Amino acid sequence: MVTQYFSDNYFEARDKFLAAANKSGAVIESHRNPNGAGPNGQDIYTDVAVFGDPASPKILMIVSGTHGNEGFCGSGCQIAYLQQGLIQQRADDTCVVMVHALNCYGFANVRRVTEDNVDLNRNFVDHDKSYPDNIGYADIHHLLVPQDWTAESVKQANKGLAIYRSEHGAGALQNAISGGQHTHPDGVFFGGIKPSWSNTMLRSIVNQYCLKKEHVALLDFHTGLGPNGIGELILNGDFKQSYERAQGWYNDEVTSFQDGSSTSAELTGMMCFAFLDAMPAIN
Ligand SMILES: [Zn+2]
Repeated sequence: MVTQYFSDNYFEARDKFLAAANKSGAVIESHRNPNGAGPNGQDIYTDVAVFGDPASPKILMIVSGTHGNEGFCGSGCQIAYLQQGLIQQRADDTCVVMVHALNCYGFANVRRVTEDNVDLNRNFVDHDKSYPDNIGYADIHHLLVPQDWTAESVKQANKGLAIYRSEHGAGALQNAISGGQHTHPDGVFFGGIKPSWSNTMLRSIVNQYCLKKEHVALLDFHTGLGPNGIGELILNGDFKQSYERAQGWYNDEVTSFQDGSSTSAELTGMMCFAFLDAMPAIN
C-alpha cells in the first residue's frame, strides 16, 4: 500500500525515515533546531542521511519539508525510495544525500513557515542588499490578513481581491500574493529580514557535500500547485544554463515560470540559491 510510506505527523515521519535510512546503510547526522519546538515542546530535528561515498563526483540531494506542511509528501517519497530499495540502484559514481524536514518547525507544527514566520523558499536572498520589490503585495496585505476575522471582513477581503484580480489579471494576483515579500513580517509569504535557521543549516550541508563536484542534482518536494495527484517537475535556478540539461535528464517533463510553462508564480529567494551561491561555476 502506498499509504504505508506516509505519516500522520512529523514525529512518526521522522521515526520511519530514520529506520529506513539506517536499514539502507546511511550515515546520519541530526541537526536540532535550537529556535523552535514541536507542538508539545518536543525537540525537533532536520536529519541528513548520506548514502554512498561523499567523495563521489556526483551528488543527488533530495529534500523534504522546505515548506513544513508539505513535508508529509516529501517525507513519504523519501521513505518509499528507501523502503522499495531504489536507493540501492543508484550509480556507483553518485552519492545520495537526503535532507528530511528542512523546515522541521513547520513540519512538526503543520505550518508552511518557519519558527520566525518566514517562508523558507523566499528566504534565500542576499540580506545585505535591498530586497526584491513586490509592490502588489503591499496593496493587498490588508485583504490577505484582515485585522478582524469575521464573516463580514472575509467577505470584504474576498471582494477586494476579486477587484484586484479583475484590474490586474490572475497572474499578477498570484505573483503579488505568493511571489515573496520582505515588508510585512506578520504577512504571508514573508521572506524574512535575515537568514532563518533552516537556511543557514542547508548552506552548511551544501558546503559539506556539494562543492567541487561534476554534477549536483537537487529534488525539493512541494505540494499544492496544479491538479491533484500530478507531479510537476518545476525547474528553478539558472534557466539559461540548466533548462536543456534538465529536460534531457527528465524526459522533457520540466516546466519553468521563466517561460510560462509552470503553475508556479514568479518567485524570489528560493532554496536552490543555497546551491547556486555556493557553486557559481556549476549548473
Ligand atoms: Zn512548497
